Amino acid sequence: MSIAVGILDIAESEARRADAAVINTIEVEVGALAGIEIPALEFAFEVARRGTLAETATLVVHAIPGRGHCPDCDAEVEIDFAAAVCPACDGAIVTVTSGRELRVRALNVD
Ligand SMILES: [Zn+2]
Repeated sequence: MSIAVGILDIAESEARRADAAVINTIEVEVGALAGIEIPALEFAFEVARRGTLAETATLVVHAIPGRGHCPDCDAEVEIDFAAAVCPACDGAIVTVTSGRELRVRALNVD
């Protein structure tokens, strides 16, 4: 719930800055490693948006896959969790390069 409220806070302050009366769409990026269940986020958003400028807004979620870089074999790999062992060389813990995102990418307001 608090994540949905945070997204709405960002969206509302941006909308007010633009003198908008209503938020039509909120696009967010959610990384696979951000620890966020997208269906749970969507449900929380439906509840949290009531009484805000985003009351009728659509939440568009862009899922960002988890990616990492292996310091041992230099591979760029797709990973499902942050402390993943390199699937290419089975050696090192990869350094996360993307997938931790949680941010508002774009707003559509009127
Ligand atoms: Zn490796």
